[in-house]
Amino acid sequence: MLAFAAYSAFIVLLFLGSRFLPGIHVEGQPLRDGARLPYKLSGMLLFIVVSALAAAAELLGFRLARVLDHFWSLFWSANVWALLITAYLMARGWRRNPPAGLWDRLKSIWLGAELNPRLASVDLKMFMYHPSLIGLHVVNLAFASQQLERYGTITAEMFLYQCFTSAYLFTHYVREDFMLSTWDIIAERFGFMLVWGDLVYVTFYYSIVGWWVVDRGWTGSGDAAVHEPLSTAALVALVVLHLLSHVLFRGSNWQKDRFKRNPSAPIWGKPPELVGGRLLASGWWGIGRKLNYTGEIGVYITFALCAGLSSWIPYVLPFSLVLLLAQRAWRDEQRCKKKYGELWDAYCARARFRMVPFLY
Ligand code: NDP
Repeated sequence: MLAFAAYSAFIVLLFLGSRFLPGIHVEGQPLRDGARLPYKLSGMLLFIVVSALAAAAELLGFRLARVLDHFWSLFWSANVWALLITAYLMARGWRRNPPAGLWDRLKSIWLGAELNPRLASVDLKMFMYHPSLIGLHVVNLAFASQQLERYGTITAEMFLYQCFTSAYLFTHYVREDFMLSTWDIIAERFGFMLVWGDLVYVTFYYSIVGWWVVDRGWTGSGDAAVHEPLSTAALVALVVLHLLSHVLFRGSNWQKDRFKRNPSAPIWGKPPELVGGRLLASGWWGIGRKLNYTGEIGVYITFALCAGLSSWIPYVLPFSLVLLLAQRAWRDEQRCKKKYGELWDAYCARARFRMVPFLY
């Protein structure tokens, strides 16, 4: 009950923050009728406020490690919230647009009934990234607290894990507006699949590596615990791999986003090369067609490497991302082929590789 109350307070406070805190005002992509919805983006402020509150709580003696003690209760609470939110979305969606039969009803529960549901002027699809990602941040921070409590110190691997995961979320919020041009926001209706993915899958599965980072390299317990750190060369290699992957991931996504907003904006200081005036063939997009996916997979590999090589379980995370993104890349290319026809073929001839130059 305590975990459910805490999780509920977390969601409600984030919602109130989204509604009342200041934010950047932007317009979304054009809808089918050409109109654009207004959005207020307060994600960065929420991320900073929650990070500051978490640090203050830890310093004042409320150990964030307690979050991990209640991990499974919080997990079930998130599931209950996913069901409650889906029920709310269905109630309002079906009132406006009643489903024709049982199949339509089931489909709309899973895929959603409305494209851009809003509550008190807050866009619910954009809002749900906050409990998802900021929740993930809190769970990740709790691993550092647990290591401190268990061993009295923060290891270099834990420090890197915290830096990598926080940087991943920070760069997400630096360009929160980027999300407005993603497939999920533009085209997917909001149903159980996205709600559950946000609240449960991302927060509780994407944090899986942390469980192994806490104990990586430690033997013995209590005062007799001894830590064998990763070598300096391994740590430096890890930092370099993370930076390269991160730059590739965000850099390529932001390049495409800039191109979509202003097709003549320079790429790497030069006028962009285009295929048929519609497809970007400069920068990362001239080297490979899905390097943004490759970069993100690289980032997740560096998360897992922070846990060392003593278990394969942390590697389930990057591996599952490989499966998810490889089939997404394939599906998207089918879609692009249909949409752009010969232009797409010309682009594929130009950027010959999909995710790994010379291999795939
Ligand atoms: P993509 O970056 O794959 O975008 C695909 C769309 O971009 C295409 O349908 C096409 O749309 C347009 N496009 C493709 N190539 C070009 C080009 N050369 N020039 C111009 N436009 C082009 O989008 P996603 O939404 O799949 O992914 C965005 C990011 O989100 C990725 O980095 C991915 O790694 C990440 N992601 C992360 C997930 C996670 O769970 N961690 C899950 C899913 C995605 P159009 O019709 O507009 O031209």
